[in-house]
Amino acid sequence: MSALILIAVLGAALGFAFGFPKWRLKRVLRQPIDPHWQALLARNIPIYSRMSGDLQHQLDKLVQQFLFQKKFVGCDGLEVDDQMRLTIAGQACLLLLNRHTRVYPALHTILVYPSAFMVPRKQVDEAGVVTEARQDLLGESWGDGRVVLSWDHVQRGAHDWTDGQNVVLHEFAHQLDSESGSNNGAPYLGSETSYRSWSEVLSRDFANLRVDAMYRQQSVMDHYGATSPAEFFAVATETFFEKPWQMAERHGELYSELFKYYRVDPRAWQPQPEPEVQYGQGYGHWQ
Ligand SMILES: [Zn+2]
Repeated sequence: MSALILIAVLGAALGFAFGFPKWRLKRVLRQPIDPHWQALLARNIPIYSRMSGDLQHQLDKLVQQFLFQKKFVGCDGLEVDDQMRLTIAGQACLLLLNRHTRVYPALHTILVYPSAFMVPRKQVDEAGVVTEARQDLLGESWGDGRVVLSWDHVQRGAHDWTDGQNVVLHEFAHQLDSESGSNNGAPYLGSETSYRSWSEVLSRDFANLRVDAMYRQQSVMDHYGATSPAEFFAVATETFFEKPWQMAERHGELYSELFKYYRVDPRAWQPQPEPEVQYGQGYGHWQ
């Protein structure tokens, strides 16, 4: 009898442990988004006010879940406030609209520095000699559930929605990439057909960007995307959301692959630019 009671108590404890967070999340999502949060989204992410009511509502719910589940940590004395949380969560969740997916399930912490942050890097020269160097970064994405961001650059990315530079979109594209099991430029796509066409189109455009970078030719995408297939996907994501008209014109098939994956058309949120667009060289998330 006592064994039965023990099993019942353990069962109840397990049910509570697993069920309670879900119950709390459901309760959070039943509430409308705080109007103060919504105002911060509208103020800090210019495209928010140009999105349809349905997409705004989806983004609100994703942001509520993101803020409920993820922890923000200020670094180098930075105090993370609502404006920072909403600006980061709002941009990160743009990548999840219409996708019926979980909200970055492997991610638990976002570390925010006031500006570019220094990290040690090991460099190996041609002779195999290893040296330690320090490098300034704007953002980093880790497979162990952390994203690191420079607040200065988060703000710049959020306010200028036409330059193709957005550190939040970049680092959260890496998070999506890593959900497939490896950071190789191919996020989880579902069917074999989808992987085949993704691979064909992205491999070809990656090779073309490498040539552009080698000969320093102008390109819609930042040349930082030529460093690896993973960086190509992250930079293509920035370009898709920030320079959609230029990407659709110059890289139609790539735009179409990203459209199938992200299930939104960012051209709806931006006026079409004049034909004589000057493509800036810019820089990636490294400084
Ligand atoms: Zn990157």
